[in-house]
Amino acid sequence: MIIMKKAMYYTSEKKNVICLLCPHKCEIADNHTGRCKVRKNIGGELFAENYSKVSSIGVDPIEKKPLFHWRENSKILSFGSYGCNFSCAFCQNYAISMEKPKTHIIKPEEIIELALQYNTPSIAYTYNEPTVFYEMMFETAVVAKEKNIDNVIVTNGFINKEPLLNILPYIDAMNIDLKTYSDENYKKLGGISVQHILDTIAIANEHCHLEVTMLMVPKIMDDCEEFENLLIRLKQAAPKIVIHLSRYFPRYNYNEPATDILLMQKFKETANRYFEKVYLGNVR
Ligand code: SF4
Repeated sequence: MIIMKKAMYYTSEKKNVICLLCPHKCEIADNHTGRCKVRKNIGGELFAENYSKVSSIGVDPIEKKPLFHWRENSKILSFGSYGCNFSCAFCQNYAISMEKPKTHIIKPEEIIELALQYNTPSIAYTYNEPTVFYEMMFETAVVAKEKNIDNVIVTNGFINKEPLLNILPYIDAMNIDLKTYSDENYKKLGGISVQHILDTIAIANEHCHLEVTMLMVPKIMDDCEEFENLLIRLKQAAPKIVIHLSRYFPRYNYNEPATDILLMQKFKETANRYFEKVYLGNVR
């Protein structure tokens, strides 16, 4: 059975469509997909191919998202689909972000039923980049709110302002990855600019609980001076957020050695000059 959903946020130009969901604004020819490989032009209309296709689902501790200062010690029903609008060489979840995994058809109302069955007070849109399964996330989040279930997005923050503002009224908490300090590095990861992510952070901070994760990757996020400049910009965007500094380990197509522990501690000391709540991850 083929299930697809008409996509939100696109315009058509003759037989091409322009997707307006993320800043890539892919122009997509008929029978082709955008950079995320999951939004397809069929006859001049854009469809979400990954709609209702769940690659992973489970119940996690909230701290695993990571969220340390929201619904502490609770459990959260977490699920992901497939696809990503970035292409990080060190991707921690490449089997579902870069490849097309085995999936199960699970509709939004069935996700809600699972949350009620497992008695989890919240649902996380996570594992792969949830922006690229926006329609599934949006529909689930709306029904979840009707049932008094909270919604959490774990994202790279690379989303346009209109779809972000449209979903935020249904979202209670977010964890946003801030991957690097320079536009040059963001382009290496398949993004465009640091400012896109800082804009998302500033908007999200106005609407919901927010924590930011930075994976400290050698040659991507390891320059102390540039890191401090990023913290200054981050403080302007969201002055009181919780920060997670996560230690990198070699993954996928990136073979640099794991981030030095002493360097992680130095990053934490620097971050603590700007933010009160700073946590190290993956250091044990
Ligand atoms: S969501 Fe996908 S298709 Fe749409 S602009 Fe972004 S990368 Fe392109």
